[in-house]
Amino acid sequence: MEDASDFLLLILSSPSGAGKTTLTKRLLAEFPEFRFSVSHTTRAPRTNEVDGRDYHFTTRPEFERLVEADAFVEWAEVHGNLYGTARTEIDRARGSKECGGLLFDIDYQGARQIRAKLLDVVGVFVLPPSLDELEKRLRGRASDTEEVVQRRFSAAKVEIEHYALFDYVLLNDDLDRAYTKLQGIILAERSKRLRKAHQAEQLLRYGKVH
Ligand code: ADP
Ligand code: 5GP
Repeated sequence: MEDASDFLLLILSSPSGAGKTTLTKRLLAEFPEFRFSVSHTTRAPRTNEVDGRDYHFTTRPEFERLVEADAFVEWAEVHGNLYGTARTEIDRARGSKECGGLLFDIDYQGARQIRAKLLDVVGVFVLPPSLDELEKRLRGRASDTEEVVQRRFSAAKVEIEHYALFDYVLLNDDLDRAYTKLQGIILAERSKRLRKAHQAEQLLRYGKVH
């Protein structure tokens, strides 16, 4: 990270099972200045999930109380459960000098709501290489019941239909290739003229970039 102008709000979205969580974990390992936006959800935890790290697992009445209190910057019902991003996630990240970006793993409804409120958000939509492969990946996760897999798979086409809400479309066929493209998106977004104009101006005024 060069300076505060590198701070990025990055949304990763996809039909369930396309590989967002896998790409997110790798990104957080290799870009330690990025933070993961920990959502609230009424879904039950999967076996490998930790409260406060993967999600804030919440009851429906508590979630509804937070909605009433206007605590969420966005929230939606996805596959029969409620999910939402607390305003405090964004405030905390923006307020921290060490934080170089916030990564949101949210669905298209949440992406739409966030984009309506925040100007500087980058959206990436992850595609599986085929619907057959998507079904295989959903089954391969092994932590969801057959009913849950079916429900998620049958929602895939509607989710893919919303790709146009995003700035980038990322085919996750080979994981390494997809990750390289994701890295490229981050580096390119951080190099946008609007973010880096100050470096050219500093060079002109002081003879160096600081
Ligand atoms: P999402 O978060 O989008 O629901 P996950 O990251 O949980 O999806 O991925 C679903 C399953 O697919 C996981 O078992 C993961 O290991 C696997 N997976 C992810 N990307 C790939 C890929 N490029 N090739 C093969 N399997 C993948
Ligand atoms: P999962 O149950 O597999 O963790 O997530 C199911 C879906 O909910 C995924 O599409 C994921 O991106 C989405 N999701 C997770 N957190 C949020 C959130 O805070 N807001 C919205 N709108 N969607 C979310």
